Amino acid sequence: MTDSPAARAAQLAHLRRRKLVKGDPVPLPLTMASIFNLPGDPAGFSQYGRFDNPTWDAAEEMLGHLEDATAIAFPSGMAAISAIFFGLLKTGDRVLLPSDGYYTPRVLAERFLKPMGIAFDLRPTTTYLDGGFDGYRMVFVETPSNPGLDICDIAAVSAAAHAVGAIVVADNTTMTPYGQLPLDLGADLVVAADTKAPNGHSDVLFGHVTSRDAAAIAAIKDWRKLSGAIPGPFEAWLLHRGLETLEIRFDRMCSSAEIIAPRLRDHPKVGALRFPGLPDDPSHNLASSQMQRFGFLIAMTLGSQAEADAFVNGCSLIQPATSFGGVHTSAERRARWGDAVAPGFVRLAVGCEPTEELWAAIETSLDAL
Ligand SMILES: *Cc1c(COP(=O)(O)O)cnc(C)c1O
Repeated sequence: MTDSPAARAAQLAHLRRRKLVKGDPVPLPLTMASIFNLPGDPAGFSQYGRFDNPTWDAAEEMLGHLEDATAIAFPSGMAAISAIFFGLLKTGDRVLLPSDGYYTPRVLAERFLKPMGIAFDLRPTTTYLDGGFDGYRMVFVETPSNPGLDICDIAAVSAAAHAVGAIVVADNTTMTPYGQLPLDLGADLVVAADTKAPNGHSDVLFGHVTSRDAAAIAAIKDWRKLSGAIPGPFEAWLLHRGLETLEIRFDRMCSSAEIIAPRLRDHPKVGALRFPGLPDDPSHNLASSQMQRFGFLIAMTLGSQAEADAFVNGCSLIQPATSFGGVHTSAERRARWGDAVAPGFVRLAVGCEPTEELWAAIETSLDAL
């Protein structure tokens, strides 16, 4: 597709219109159905609720439209990642995973891939290219990584991996299609947790896989149909609604983060701070070249666990919670989950509140430490 991301965003809320006949509801109907009217030859229709559903189709159409690819919906981000692993790997394959990314794929690999004879290695995101990709069937990147916000060069990783016959999967959860388009940079597949910003209202878990490789999509779709890891129609309906406002929410969140990050960096209570949008951040140059925006996550380290807890729990406009990407600004101390970070490390997920009001509340909470 030659359309710019802005053109795609503009079309997003109008995709459904192409199919409407006179008298149809303009908003998407929620189809709750396990069975469909199916006399005769079953080809070409909705057949059974584990195979397909019109409400999933509409959510997938939007997700695919944003990435100029085919999207397959899943009930969570981890279900999408599981589909990549179990749908595309076989005994004897080797996978490379980031040592500093979202931790659950590593646990999944240790607990279930390894006993099936699928080996994996770990590498830090910043040095992902070092050592090359010889012997790997799948190279999995997460950039910016959650929670450290390190970045790797998706185009360079993809070129090096393809040269030795590996496929490249990018977890694009932290950026969304409005912030980064890994398939355009050379990745073969994208996985994402739509639980985060795409749904955006903290009331649904959802995930998807996108690809332009028809064989990979067919395998992922078969995995969903046969394993039964299907999204609920109501969740798909809520995601569809959330996607209609993703562009405007993401824009506010990223713009606010760009304003708030330098003020946090200059605050005396804040130690190390990572935000790819800061010109002196180690991720900045690469971020500028491969990302459309710098995201809405800020990683900052306060003096101690007690200070981090007091800051997060004492701020009137920060919701203490895990996860990110909702309309509320939220934050958490990541060491409580065992991430390899300092005890005072806080991941701040900037939400949709008016920027100056949000900053005033953050500053008040920091000043009180
Ligand atoms: C949250 C998250 C996931 C998992 O998503 P769920 O919907 O919770 O299963 C995967 N990758 C990243 C980077 C995440 O932040």
